[in-house]
Amino acid sequence: MEKVSASEMQICKLEQCTGCFACEAICPKQAIIAVEDEYGKTIPHIEKEKCVKCGLCTQVCPVQKPREIRYPGKCYAAWTKSDYDRENCASGGIATGIGRHFIEQGGVVFGSKYTGVDELKCEITMATTMEELEDFKSSKYVQVSTGDSYQKAKEQLDLGRKVLYVGTPCQIGGLLNFLRKDYENLTTMDLICHGVPPMKYLKEYAESVTDEKVTRITFRGKNDFMICMYRDEKTEKNDVPCYRQHFYKDYYYEAFLKSLTYRDNCYQCQYAKTQRVSDITIGDFWELNRDTLEHHYEGRISEVLINTPQGENIFLQCGKYFVYEERELQEAVAGNEQLRTPSTPHPDYKIFKDTVKSHGFTRAVKATHVKATIRKNILADSRFGKVLRRIKQFIKK
Ligand SMILES: Cc1cc2nc3c(=O)[nH]c(=O)nc-3n(C[C@H](O)[C@H](O)[C@H](O)COP(=O)(O)OP(=O)(O)OC[C@H]3O[C@@H](n4cnc5c(N)ncnc54)[C@H](O)[C@@H]3O)c2cc1C
Ligand code: SF4
Ligand code: SF4
Ligand code: SF4
Repeated sequence: MEKVSASEMQICKLEQCTGCFACEAICPKQAIIAVEDEYGKTIPHIEKEKCVKCGLCTQVCPVQKPREIRYPGKCYAAWTKSDYDRENCASGGIATGIGRHFIEQGGVVFGSKYTGVDELKCEITMATTMEELEDFKSSKYVQVSTGDSYQKAKEQLDLGRKVLYVGTPCQIGGLLNFLRKDYENLTTMDLICHGVPPMKYLKEYAESVTDEKVTRITFRGKNDFMICMYRDEKTEKNDVPCYRQHFYKDYYYEAFLKSLTYRDNCYQCQYAKTQRVSDITIGDFWELNRDTLEHHYEGRISEVLINTPQGENIFLQCGKYFVYEERELQEAVAGNEQLRTPSTPHPDYKIFKDTVKSHGFTRAVKATHVKATIRKNILADSRFGKVLRRIKQFIKK
């Protein structure tokens, strides 16, 4: 069957496509499928014979039809009261706390989960129980597929259930355009987002560092800023990683944090601004002035932006889960680049892109200056590096 790209069908330009797949979800003829481009990012292709030219895909594409965005009305610094969540969540445990509230109310929550049995796969799925909510915890530093979550969310909304959908801003944009009407029982929560690498990169990298079949990877949480790869589902018994490394000594993590490996569209992200697409926005409150906080706290603190009356209502209903204090929006915006502008590509981005096509992920990262940085960091952490530092300090004195 002849396949043409989304840009040939004029759904959207490929370099702007976020991979939200609202177009695929809406297509009445299942004519749209996900394929990988030469850089490994998933993009839609259309099977020409199946297409009836109804135009729905173009109508729901958020690149063609950007969503309405709003200035946050309020900004809070917040963190969870739960010791357990503090250990396992990405930041202040806000997504998990608000998710708990929905489940308690008989609602459902959509979030990202590793779903592969024998392979690395991460999708947005639905949770109806507190146990299922556990899988969503913490950040997956990779593009997560929206799978059939848009259709499932619509089903639940039409049944009148309360729905919380958590995702990157482009995933929320895709959901809202796919729904094509407002639902009072829907709450959306987006993450402040600097970009996502294609899943292909993470898979290739996992294969290069371990012979085990990795199905789950954590980047934050109990092992703060450490990449940990696991072969099995999460249980207390098998919580032993087959690969673990600090972020500054790991090629994947370092390349991610240094803006080397995102989808090209992320560097021109329409959502990287103060105005937001969802009811509630959450991120890390890096530049918070802790000295001015009423409550003393040493752990990770989230920034929570309230963008709609619905968002405010829900956040305040969840008060029992959190400690929170209102802050000036400017404090959050000044300290968080992605509330102002999209990520800037790493200076070696072009080298990475040119190499990844022919030589794959790991060699492409090693073709850039990230290799020298990692080597330097490994050396600094080694016994030899520590001795060298002590000698240097001694000479200085
Ligand atoms: C790729 C990525 C980039 C980020 N960039 C920034 C940034 O530049 N600045 C900033 O302040 N914050 C950023 N964050 C958000 C921040 O790191 C925390 O994830 C966020 O504050 C939630 O923390 P929490 O403790 O409330 O979440 P938890 O209670 O631990 O729950 C995590 C939630 O995030 C969702 N999630 C995790 N990974 C993904 C993913 N890849 N795609 C979609 N949903 C996902 C989960 O489904 C879950 O709902 C980023 C997160 C991700 C995943
Ligand atoms: S025009 Fe209609 S049938 Fe064709 S791909 Fe788009 S949504 Fe599907
Ligand atoms: S709807 Fe999403 S996946 Fe489809 S073309 Fe537009 S941005 Fe790309
Ligand atoms: S940077 Fe923008 S386009 Fe890229 S994943 Fe984040 S929200 Fe989506």
